[in-house]
Amino acid sequence: MIVVLSRGISTHDKEMVRIYLHDRGFSVREQSFGDDAIIGASGKGVVDIRELSILPGVERVAATSKPYELASRETKSEDTIVTVGASASQMGVQIGGSRITVIAGPCAVESREQIMETAALVRESGAVMLRGGAYKPRTSPYSFQGLGIEGLEYMKAAGEAYGMPIVTEVVSPDLAVQMQDLTDMFQIGARNMQNYELLKKVGSLGKPVLLKRGPSATIEEWLLSAEYLLASGTKDVVLCERGIRTFETYTRNTLDISAIPVVKDLSHLPVIVDPSHAVGIRAKVAPASLAAIAAGAAGLTLEVHPRPDEALSDGPQSLYPEQFEKLMRDIEALSPVVGKELLRTPRPHHWTAARVRAGQGAAGVPEGGSPGPGSEASDAGGETGMVVFSGVRGAFAEQALMRAFGDDAPRLAVSGFPAVFDAVLDGSAVAGIVPVENSLAGSVHENYDLFLRYPDISIVGELKLRVMHCLIAHERADIDSISIVRSHPQGFAQCKEFLDKHPDWTLEPCNNTAVAVESIAREGAIKVAAIAGEAAARAFNLKVLREGIETNPLNYTRFVIISRRVGERAPVPPSLGSDKPNKASLVFSVPDEPGSLFACLKILSERGINLSKLESRPIQGQPWEYMFYVDVSIPETEELFKQTIEELKAKTENFHFLGMYRASL
Ligand code: PEP
Ligand code: MN
Repeated sequence: MIVVLSRGISTHDKEMVRIYLHDRGFSVREQSFGDDAIIGASGKGVVDIRELSILPGVERVAATSKPYELASRETKSEDTIVTVGASASQMGVQIGGSRITVIAGPCAVESREQIMETAALVRESGAVMLRGGAYKPRTSPYSFQGLGIEGLEYMKAAGEAYGMPIVTEVVSPDLAVQMQDLTDMFQIGARNMQNYELLKKVGSLGKPVLLKRGPSATIEEWLLSAEYLLASGTKDVVLCERGIRTFETYTRNTLDISAIPVVKDLSHLPVIVDPSHAVGIRAKVAPASLAAIAAGAAGLTLEVHPRPDEALSDGPQSLYPEQFEKLMRDIEALSPVVGKELLRTPRPHHWTAARVRAGQGAAGVPEGGSPGPGSEASDAGGETGMVVFSGVRGAFAEQALMRAFGDDAPRLAVSGFPAVFDAVLDGSAVAGIVPVENSLAGSVHENYDLFLRYPDISIVGELKLRVMHCLIAHERADIDSISIVRSHPQGFAQCKEFLDKHPDWTLEPCNNTAVAVESIAREGAIKVAAIAGEAAARAFNLKVLREGIETNPLNYTRFVIISRRVGERAPVPPSLGSDKPNKASLVFSVPDEPGSLFACLKILSERGINLSKLESRPIQGQPWEYMFYVDVSIPETEELFKQTIEELKAKTENFHFLGMYRASL
């Protein structure tokens, strides 16, 4: 804090200001600033700024640090990731970091049937948490006030039935105690944001809290309310922007989109958005939701009702189930653009082989046997849930891995793709992640070829990552000091236009983009730069000289998740396998005779099976003979798919079923 003193302040008054600050716990230092005399006060003192500013001889007072501490980014620089609903039997849902978490449900729990029906349909569309009010703070005392504890019991049952943690509003400190065993997360409603007794009680219970922003609260007041919760005992607070009061009356409130980047700067706590209460009009909820995601929100909480026209509260802003389904698809398409992934199912903390063998989904040839207890896939990697990637810290593959398995997934970095396959095969890792295709530079042939060399490895999932490249160099370097650039050849290919503007630079290929960054950190040379992702610059404390240098911003890399087959099937990580597989990858060669490839494609086309990729690769050691790599959609009827595969096997040679999995958009 800085206290600017008036020019003519007497020695006595100056001393009084010093004593005032000192008595309130500050250390004090007097300084001149041009013609002004100022007193700098630092430390953990507490002062009423208004009282200080009217002391004789005080011209002005300026605060230099944040009034909230536990919620502040200055106190904790890395993002807080809040886990809701974790228990011995449930893995919990995470909010924050690189995921988009969607909470959905009705405004109010109206009956057991209504909350069960809503839970089923929002879960089906991809929501991972269930919302619903049992105690409704309504503007009018004559409106429906909620079913109370009975409603909460229905909601708990619905959450359990559909595997979704629940969040519900708490309106009084006494109720907080009664509700604590029935909910996974407390919601503090907008009207109660400054109910400090409620904040203190709820905070002391230690459960995660969703803190709505008050309709007339400044960002600072909102963060101070978060501070109350944190200071009372909980460490898991999620902030929720839900619109503020302005002079505009067309929408129910005004969604303060700018609050999202502002809060993310000021605080480490995740911030989500409630577009339903912000706009209050059903038709405006979807565009506001997408804007929130684009602005950096960590998730959304949305009101959805099976029959909004019959809803007992907030019907006009509740989405129809089909609107919610469409919105979820749009969010899924938008998420990679902002470098995030829509969380579709609760992610495991540790994906263990034991859990995998407990029978989560199934991949492999459709007629395959089930993984029996006698199967041999148990080992060190299985026990720790280790996932393997090629590269070093900050590599794009590591980003993809964290997206698929969670930021805290135990991971093993190896050098080169064959080492990834080896680690999965010998059990040092329970799964691996490898790139197979880039939208600008094409296929990663090495990995396609490895699938043939490792027939016991199967594809169990896929993931698309937006690739944003930066030119990264040593702290002391600048663009003019650079004469050598290192990257993976794909990095050079994807930044061709940028590199063409610097024809004098020497390009040195490396195994991996992040390895290029690591080499600069190790050598400390100012003439070398690397092309890699921003995460790699952060991992090695280097400087980003230019960002977004890829030729085309629509630059995505498709990664596949691989695991070892057990019998005929490969285990599927629970995070990827709970939805029915809708895509399969096959490899085959065809007899050397006219029309043989056509005959295979005809089998697919006659059954309406979509072909999303067809690529040929030379067969090693057999010049001018090729293997075809084919990605197909899986039809709804399992029987039809089985028949198709059988017919394809009959028409082809060297048929390999690489795996079936859920397609990423
Ligand atoms: C709610 O989420 O049901 C609710 C009442 O929201 P708010 O407190 O933001 O008005
Ligand atoms: Mn509501």
